Amino acid sequence: MDESSRQSAEFVVSARAVLIDSRELVGDGAVAIGGGKVLHLGRRRAVLSRFSGVKEFNFQSHLLLPGLVNAHTHLELSCMAGKIPPPAHFTDWVLALLAAYPQAAGAGKIIAEAASAGARQSIESGVTTVGDISRYAAISRAALRRGPLRVVSFGEITALGRSRHRLAERLRRAADTALQSDWVAIGLSPHAPYSVEGPALKKIVEAAQRRRLPLAMHLAEHSEEREFLASLGGPLGCRWEFMRKMNLLDERIPLFAGGPLAWAGHYGLLNASVPLLLAHVNYVDEADLELLARSRATVALCPRTRHYFGHESRARHRWRDMLARGINVCLATDSLASNPDLCVLREAQFVRRREPDADIQELFAMLTTRPARALGLENAIGRLAPGFRADMMAVELPGKEPLPIRSALEQIIRAAPPPAAVWINGRTVFGRAVEE
Ligand SMILES: [Zn+2]
Repeated sequence: MDESSRQSAEFVVSARAVLIDSRELVGDGAVAIGGGKVLHLGRRRAVLSRFSGVKEFNFQSHLLLPGLVNAHTHLELSCMAGKIPPPAHFTDWVLALLAAYPQAAGAGKIIAEAASAGARQSIESGVTTVGDISRYAAISRAALRRGPLRVVSFGEITALGRSRHRLAERLRRAADTALQSDWVAIGLSPHAPYSVEGPALKKIVEAAQRRRLPLAMHLAEHSEEREFLASLGGPLGCRWEFMRKMNLLDERIPLFAGGPLAWAGHYGLLNASVPLLLAHVNYVDEADLELLARSRATVALCPRTRHYFGHESRARHRWRDMLARGINVCLATDSLASNPDLCVLREAQFVRRREPDADIQELFAMLTTRPARALGLENAIGRLAPGFRADMMAVELPGKEPLPIRSALEQIIRAAPPPAAVWINGRTVFGRAVEE
């Protein structure tokens, strides 16, 4: 340990156990923090002797673990919490959302407050980074840019049929880096196959690659996307009164017969050279899984939102087949318009209750290292290791006996306890640090 690292340590957090990631745990451990990063991690005694004189915050009855990463949410929809009962069909939900969403005067303030409230709720559940889809990116980025939540803000873009002439303007706004900050990074989100036509998707992917911006898209969320792409028909197309009223569909929209995954491949999304997150991917066949396995895309499984929309009863999610094929899968909440809260730990709890044989370490990776990779932040967050950002949480786990890693993970996923403290970039953002 050289003198400069010793001096740059601002404080040490010690705990009953420190979880490095889903595979490694240090009993009676401690983490030395400085400059917003983890400087050193190890047994408490060793860390304290290396950093003698540095202030220690001791969480003796707690587990210290990496901050959780919720790679797919829409914070600006937090004002919709509990307002829309589970719909008979997704299209009814869209109408209910539009009817309830703030319009015109005062809307900006409501949207900004919703984004901030969603950020607060995320932190209170131990989430330290989110992938946030925003239709009103200028408003939500302004609300979030001073932190404390770490955010990848994906500006949402729609461009279909008669609205295609607005693509350039929408792309410019979504990709605008004027509001990026230490907390907010910029990404692009082509919305969905029924709101972005193929050539527009291609242009968005090219823009993301040119500017090195991560991408996120809702894909294969609904079984009806296939019919829409093939003929512009079905419940998401001509049979949807709302779509008819919007009067967007025209003969220049290229039709595509192979389903949404092949469509996304055809227009360059699956081979994008930037991080790519695909939200939901509820409906896939073997050929789709092959396509995903050849791409570097991450699939975000949102279990309670799936349940809310009734996808569970229509098709089992293939997340375990995806992992078996080497596809990166993470757990995420989606928004408060379709989910009871933004606690991603409860998503793991929900999966574990339905699939008790799901591997507990794998589930935890789906809350940390896997979503970090989805956002292109795998070398900065999702683990507690030297050089990584000091994004972490402490949860109560009293006891003196040795704590095997699987039992620690079992306990926190079973109980999904609220954190006692949360740090982002080495700053306490929730709870009170307990000084010894
Ligand atoms: Zn979503």
